[in-house]
Amino acid sequence: MSLLPILETPDPLLRRISTPVEQVTDELRALIDDMFETMYAAPGIGLAAVQVGVPKRILVIDLQEPEEEEGPPVRRPLVFINPEILSESEELQVYNEGCLSLPEMYAEVERPAKVRARWLDRDGALHEEDLDGMLAICLQHEMDHLEGILFIDHLSRLKRDMILKKLAKQKKLAA
Ligand SMILES: [Zn+2]
Repeated sequence: MSLLPILETPDPLLRRISTPVEQVTDELRALIDDMFETMYAAPGIGLAAVQVGVPKRILVIDLQEPEEEEGPPVRRPLVFINPEILSESEELQVYNEGCLSLPEMYAEVERPAKVRARWLDRDGALHEEDLDGMLAICLQHEMDHLEGILFIDHLSRLKRDMILKKLAKQKKLAA
């Protein structure tokens, strides 16, 4: 396994539309393993393949939530290949989102609170489930990446420009 470099805004590849996976191969599973390692190291709770430069419809998610309130985080790795949203609730939920491709930037984004989703797992098995809470938020955020959409695209232009300016400043300081 190896750590992969994570693309950051304004890398134009982040705006590419990812293509469907035709077959779940060992090569793909090796990429998925690297994506998990990269995501845990970042650290993050979700990563789309396009964020490591591979514009294919593959997501990895692990909320790493503790079993009980004060407990240690527990790893529950989830793989979503060719994910689709079949239906979504009218009810919305707001969460202060961040993204590994926009380091240290956060903003409140409103999304459907519940979704019914369909996807393939790392063995190519089909799943169809109702998701809510943090997993629903995370899946919708990661699925946006497959369409070249970033969470800042859900914000007003003013807020988006503010974040992009801050990011540019941060990069200049780091250089
Ligand atoms: Zn993201």
